[in-house]
Amino acid sequence: MRHFNKSKTNLLFACTICNRSYKKTNFPLADETKRSIDTHDISKEEPLIINPSTESPSNYIVYNQHIMQPRIINGQESLKGKYTIELFKLNDRNVIVEERRALYESYNSAIGKKTYCRTIVIENRIT
Ligand SMILES: [Zn+2]
Repeated sequence: MRHFNKSKTNLLFACTICNRSYKKTNFPLADETKRSIDTHDISKEEPLIINPSTESPSNYIVYNQHIMQPRIINGQESLKGKYTIELFKLNDRNVIVEERRALYESYNSAIGKKTYCRTIVIENRIT
């Protein structure tokens, strides 16, 4: 168990479903060799989970209609966006995907745009 797992900066509010069913104890890093184990200095760690209390998810995730995709940054998919989407299954959980679809469709309807979401499947790969 990580020594700082209950330190103030390591705690965020999350719903029970996200925390227990999806995040669990996962805390992926861009470079596992930089994981802080014996020290309180976590400054070298580059977490691959978005921390919405310190950074904007839109820096890492974009929408294609109602489907979330990693933002392309310097020609590369944002790994942080990709891992956050995959870890929390943000495109695979019917309840949240259908809410986004309804929102997308009602927005288009409100602006007079008659488009309907196609169902698209995003490859859910973890490398
Ligand atoms: Zn949740």
